[in-house]
Amino acid sequence: MNILLHVCCGPCTVYPYRILTEEGYSLAGYFHNPNIHPFQEFKRRLTALEEFCRQTGFQMAYDRRYGLKEYLREVVFHEENRCLICYRMRLVATAKVAKEQRAEAFSSTLLYSRYQKHEAIRRIGEEVAEEEGVPFYYRDFREGWQEGIDGAVAMELYRQPYCGCIYSEQERYDKTTRKQRVKD
Ligand code: SF4
Repeated sequence: MNILLHVCCGPCTVYPYRILTEEGYSLAGYFHNPNIHPFQEFKRRLTALEEFCRQTGFQMAYDRRYGLKEYLREVVFHEENRCLICYRMRLVATAKVAKEQRAEAFSSTLLYSRYQKHEAIRRIGEEVAEEEGVPFYYRDFREGWQEGIDGAVAMELYRQPYCGCIYSEQERYDKTTRKQRVKD
C-alpha cells in the first residue's frame, strides 16, 4: 500500500517512518503546518525535517509557506476548539494531495505524539477520509514513543519545546496560562 504521511516535524517522524517502511509500506511525506509560529521556529522545524530526510532518504513534499494568517483566520473566536480546527486544516490538505498523487491512503505523524488529542485526530482523519474519498490509515504510533525520542537524539534533530501555535508557546512558558490549563 502506498501512503502519503502528513509530517508535523522531524522528531515525530522517526518512529512512524521506521516502522512503516520496515513493514513494506511505500511512503511519501507531506509537510503542511500553518500552525507553527513564530517564523524563526517554523524555519527551524523545517530545517530539522530536511536533516531527517537527508539522513534517511525519505521523500518529502514541503509546503514552505508560513501559515500564520491562514491559521489565525480559522482559529480566532474559536480558540477553545483550536486543536480540532488545526488537525482538520492539516488533514484536509494532506487528503487532497493524497488524492492528486493517487495514494491509497493518508496518515499523520500527529498519531505519534502523546501530547496530542489522539482520539480526536483519529475521528477527524476518518471524517476527512469520507469527505475527500481517500482512506485514512490509522495506527497508534505512540507505541514507539521512546524509540522516537532516542532516534531523534541520535540523529541530533532539533526537538521543539512546545506544540506549535502562538497559544501553545504561551502555555509552555507563561506560568499563569499553565495553571489555567491544568484547571481546564
Ligand atoms: S496546541 Fe498544537 S494542535 Fe493545538 S492548535 Fe496549537 S499547534 Fe495546533
